[in-house]
Amino acid sequence: MDFTSINTDEDIAQIRDSVRKLCERFPAEYWRKLDREMAYPREFVTALTEAGYLSVLIPEEYGGSGMRLSGAAAVLEEIQRAGANGAACHAQMYIMGALLRHGNEAQKRKYLPQIASGALRLQAFGVTEPTSGTDTLSLKTVARREGDVYIVNGQKVWTSRAEYSDLMLLLARTTPKEQVQKRTDGLSVFIVDMRESKAGGMTIKPIRTMMNHSTTEVFFDNVRVPAEDLIGEEGKGFPYILSGMNAERILIAAECIGDAKWFIEKASNYAKERVVFGRPIGQNQGIQFPIAKAYAHMRAAELMVHRAAQLFENGEDCGEEANMAKMLAAEASWMAAEACVQTHGGFGFAEEYDVERKFRETRLYQVAPISSNLILSYVAEHVLGLPRSY
Ligand SMILES: Cc1cc2nc3c(=O)[nH]c(=O)nc-3n(C[C@H](O)[C@H](O)[C@H](O)COP(=O)(O)OP(=O)(O)OC[C@H]3O[C@@H](n4cnc5c(N)ncnc54)[C@H](O)[C@@H]3O)c2cc1C
Repeated sequence: MDFTSINTDEDIAQIRDSVRKLCERFPAEYWRKLDREMAYPREFVTALTEAGYLSVLIPEEYGGSGMRLSGAAAVLEEIQRAGANGAACHAQMYIMGALLRHGNEAQKRKYLPQIASGALRLQAFGVTEPTSGTDTLSLKTVARREGDVYIVNGQKVWTSRAEYSDLMLLLARTTPKEQVQKRTDGLSVFIVDMRESKAGGMTIKPIRTMMNHSTTEVFFDNVRVPAEDLIGEEGKGFPYILSGMNAERILIAAECIGDAKWFIEKASNYAKERVVFGRPIGQNQGIQFPIAKAYAHMRAAELMVHRAAQLFENGEDCGEEANMAKMLAAEASWMAAEACVQTHGGFGFAEEYDVERKFRETRLYQVAPISSNLILSYVAEHVLGLPRSY
């Protein structure tokens, strides 16, 4: 598809249409088989890459299509709405923002065109660690400078797609916590070439989870990262990661809206068709009200997603809206998932209906990439001025 100068609302509507068509090539049976085998959707990710959808946010001068965030959100929403799962590749859209905003020109020229063409995959995002969890500033992975390289030691957990990525955006400590003046200082961001690292001290171990998510633990044992792959200034990496989080929240929220739409449509169709006691189950208010309620919540969350995206695109502060959009959309998708299972009765648990698979997949978004509790803490502290709770 030619994305040149795509950015109007009609263009975005056209993209939705094209993504829907692409997803039709990957029917439910494709996703069921992958889920059963806990396998990576290579063909689907290749198709998205070749169609240019994973590089929509990369500016045209670096080989992408330079779309606004709403375009990327539309792509992810449509993937989920089609019953597919964008988690296999969604991170590429927002991780590269750190490189784009804080990388130097040489780094951008080295990596972005190759990411845009699909020659390099930037899918792995190494932030979370087993001991620090949500408390990112307490992470323990250390990068120590020795001449032209940094030597990295430590461990990451929940590094999704690490086995299917060439590059990782890594957050590591370069100055001990006790020696920094500001609590957010001392962490640095690197682009790690995993192809080289795997031959030099990096080990990746898959974690089996309740849904097919290709997530892993990554161990660093004296991994050498060239100093030229440090993004921005040493010790200032935490704000770089934070600066990408609004985009991440909005895009994940859009996925949740897509999930909610899938569940609502699936539940409504089944409720119209399934006849028990001589009438469609959807005639019972006990069945139709939860679906209608989920729909109302989804629409409200959708407005917040659009508002957050609009502020983001205008370069305005959207922290409040992006966080609330993520929380509300994740709750709406879960409400819709719950209504969908209940509507299907026993068949909600049968693999061939896909409801149980999507139910497992959408549950994640109340926990990751940020849990709803931490969003509430953000709103309480930064919007309502309540005391910081942690
Ligand atoms: C499938 C999956 C994929 C993931 N992919 C990635 C990835 O690619 N890269 C990456 O870096 N991370 C990834 N994550 C990690 C994810 O971001 C974290 O799981 C999440 O941020 C929560 O951290 P934790 O699991 O350590 O929970 P913890 O920090 O241990 O928290 C446990 C619970 O306590 C709550 N809690 C903790 N502190 C507070 C507080 N002060 N106030 C209120 N509640 C609190 C949390 O909200 C949570 O509900 C992934 C996680 C999963 C499950």
